[in-house]
Amino acid sequence: MSAGQGIGMTSLRTRERLIQRLTEQGIRDPRVLDRIRNVPRHLFVDEALASRAYEDTALPIGYGQTISQPYVVARMTEAVTVGGTPKKVLEIGTGCGYQTAVLAPLVGRLYSIERIEALLERAKERIRELGIKNVKFKHGDGSEGWASQKPFNAILLAAAPHAIPQKLLDQLADRGRLVAPVGPEGRQELMRITRRGDQFLPERLGFVSFVPLLGGVS
Ligand code: SAH
Repeated sequence: MSAGQGIGMTSLRTRERLIQRLTEQGIRDPRVLDRIRNVPRHLFVDEALASRAYEDTALPIGYGQTISQPYVVARMTEAVTVGGTPKKVLEIGTGCGYQTAVLAPLVGRLYSIERIEALLERAKERIRELGIKNVKFKHGDGSEGWASQKPFNAILLAAAPHAIPQKLLDQLADRGRLVAPVGPEGRQELMRITRRGDQFLPERLGFVSFVPLLGGVS
């Protein structure tokens, strides 16, 4: 048996344990739980960390960034897909591509922006290897959004701004929702903003811990 298969075998049990934990923490949508069960998170982290891939924690992915915690990925995925299949979704902060892989099959088309080119290239490769075909990637500053593709039915931020950039709200479709951690490190709250015409209705979804949304590209 190859080393890769070995991890696959162990992970079956540890994946079920993770699903159990997320269910206990209130993740209900079976489509979301299925994605967490089926996306091989160990392929998104360094081999040295693969044995910890199904723990419910963030892990380093290089360049000072982290792969999001499975609970948070599940929570954000639920928050954007609740009640249907959003047609066009913008993701800001591709990172290693894990959230991208979980979310993509639950939406029509996914547009994903990352400011660190080296991370983006590896994420693209993994998404291709998993046979996911409805994602378009861009190397750039996500706080600008993706104007040529607007409006989006949902926008999801995987990095925390101090305040939600107005440009992103402007790119939200009517009835669309934006989900983002907001606030300085150590004091961030997950927010969902729903657009109704010119009104933006905020909801608080609980405290979280994310890397900051940074300007420019690298
Ligand atoms: N969901 C990702 C999380 C990655 S961490 C995963 O599971 O891997 C957040 C990512 O946001 C980092 O890769 C960081 O480089 C990126 N980021 C931070 N500010 C950004 C910006 N302004 N535009 C695009 N990406 C940004």
